[in-house]
Amino acid sequence: MPWGAEPLGRNERCTMNKIQINTKWCKKCGLCAKYCPKNVFDRDKLGGPIVARPEDCIGCMQCESRCPDFAIDVEKAQ
Ligand code: SF4
Ligand code: SF4
Repeated sequence: MPWGAEPLGRNERCTMNKIQINTKWCKKCGLCAKYCPKNVFDRDKLGGPIVARPEDCIGCMQCESRCPDFAIDVEKAQ
C-alpha cells in the first residue's frame, strides 16, 4: 500500500478497475494500447504497455480480449 493510502473500510468498495500486465508473457505488440478506447496505456521505450491512466478505465475488456498472449488481466471494481 503506498504511503498515505488508507485501507478500505468494511463498507467501502474499490472504485477503480485493476489492470495487471504479465511482463513475462507480453511480447510488446501494442495491441492493448491501440484498442483501448480510453487511452489508459502509455508505452515504454521497448513498446511495452504501461498502465498510465487506470482511473480512466471503463472496464470494456478490449485490452484483455485482444491480447494475443493472455498477458493482461482486468479486474473490475466491485
Ligand atoms: S496486447 Fe498483450 S502482448 Fe501485446 S503489448 Fe499488450 S499486453 Fe503485451
Ligand atoms: S478495459 Fe478497456 S478501458 Fe480499461 S484498459 Fe482495457 S481497453 Fe482500456
